[in-house]
Amino acid sequence: MIVLSIIGFVHFYFEAGRRWLAYAAIAFRLLALLLNFATGVNLNFQDVTGLGRATLWGGVVVAVPVGIPNAWQIFAQIGNLLLVVFVVDASITLWRRGDSVARRRALLVGGSIVLCVVVVASFGALIVAGAVHAPTILTPGFLVVVLAMGYELSWDVIAAAQLTAKLRTSEISLRASEEQFRAVVESVPNAILLVDGQGKVTLTNPQAQALFGYAREEMVGRPVELLIPQWHLSAHETYHQSYAADARPPVMGVARELYALHKDGSEVPVEMVLKPMQTVDASFVLVSLVDVTERRQNERTAARQRDEISHLSRVAMLGELSGSIAHEINQPLMGILSNAQAAQRFLARDDVNLDEVREILVDIVEDDKRAGEVIRRLRALLKKGEVQNRPLDINSVVDDVMRLARNDLMNRDVAVSTELTPDLPPVVGDQIQLQQVLLNLVMNACEAMEAVSGTPQVHIRTRRADGGGVEMSVSDRGGGIPPGDLERIFEPFVTTKEHGIGLGLSICHTIIIAHGGRLWAENIGGGAMFRCTLPLSDHAE
Ligand code: ADP
Repeated sequence: MIVLSIIGFVHFYFEAGRRWLAYAAIAFRLLALLLNFATGVNLNFQDVTGLGRATLWGGVVVAVPVGIPNAWQIFAQIGNLLLVVFVVDASITLWRRGDSVARRRALLVGGSIVLCVVVVASFGALIVAGAVHAPTILTPGFLVVVLAMGYELSWDVIAAAQLTAKLRTSEISLRASEEQFRAVVESVPNAILLVDGQGKVTLTNPQAQALFGYAREEMVGRPVELLIPQWHLSAHETYHQSYAADARPPVMGVARELYALHKDGSEVPVEMVLKPMQTVDASFVLVSLVDVTERRQNERTAARQRDEISHLSRVAMLGELSGSIAHEINQPLMGILSNAQAAQRFLARDDVNLDEVREILVDIVEDDKRAGEVIRRLRALLKKGEVQNRPLDINSVVDDVMRLARNDLMNRDVAVSTELTPDLPPVVGDQIQLQQVLLNLVMNACEAMEAVSGTPQVHIRTRRADGGGVEMSVSDRGGGIPPGDLERIFEPFVTTKEHGIGLGLSICHTIIIAHGGRLWAENIGGGAMFRCTLPLSDHAE
């Protein structure tokens, strides 16, 4: 029993020891037990020949057997040796784990067991051999082992008590932080869902219940797909995959519209943030959603208002140009008139030269086309149409504007030079709005040069932008812009002109930003330069 207990204790308490050694030690001990009954008087004596007397401490006298030792005892000794080897081996393994508790345990428990087994076994052998006169009592020896075990175990009891106390406090703080988490989740304005690794909703807050129209019990335990419109599902998977690949918490639904599916089947535009959460045994994703219905409506209203203002400003600008535009139309009309009169004169003659009349008619048609073109461009700018973003050649924008403003620029004695890079890749944008921007920049440039002496000169340049896309710039030889105002001039109602409103540049800026581009001003030696970049269309190479 003692041998079994020691082996069991060492095995479970040290979490070490070779099994075969343990089995071998047990097998030899069992064999010794059998031999104890099968051979001699017992395993110690082949024969007991007499009784000796031994005096113990304190003068107590006890009878001890005297006889021939049993040779089969060797099996018990082998068993003891195996037990010692097993315990030494297990203690070494424990010692190698390195921490102080393991080392103390290996030394104290392992050491005392080995010592006691060795002492008890040798002592017993000496008594049987008749070298020592003493009773063969094992108890005192193993008492030391029990004491060592008890000492060690009492440490464990204390540690367990401390651990329990710690566990209780951490349980309390866990409950407190759980309550805090719940309170935060319940009180934030966002709709919150906690989704587990299987895609099932495990937690919702009242805002989520309001957003989706389900009661808590209707959502918890159900797959999250319940809350996503069918047509979104494949996109949702892509989101998840890209999210898993790159675990930034992206805000979704900003660049691309994202919808939540309400219980009644309606779709609610939302913005979504995902945050992975890891517990010991499971992973979750915290989904935070904001209903952006109102924001989207406001954005749409703002966009409509922006378009209306930009249209108004376009009309106002064309009002300023009306004199020179009238002239643009008048010229071909005059041509038509004089050509028609000439034709009438030719036809009044007797010898009508039909070839000449034909030539005149060709001229009339040409002039008519010219006038028609001017009117077409004017109508396009005056019309309050939908913004149409499509791939376009930025040089054609410059051409259109030049045709419209040519006369005005000539009247103002402004020399215009252009530097248009041929074969630029198409940008994506609204032709009319981009014309409006360029027209505005050109007219501002003319106005800036009115106050300064020297030849007024405007230079328009198109080229590939440094960071990709296409750049269009307008530079002049006016007074430039005070460095502190370089950014401010794009704010609404900032003007230095007596009759200015200060809306032109702000509208241009809004238009370019809405095109995904950039518009900024720089001072160049003797004037200002306005540069605008536009992103390339997807169709561009
Ligand atoms: P407005 O023309 O009604 O003043 P804008 O928004 O077009 O409104 O221009 C705002 C201000 O920016 C102008 O008042 C002027 O001071 C400055 N500005 C615009 N273009 C130029 C330029 N090419 N050179 C110098 N200053 C300019």
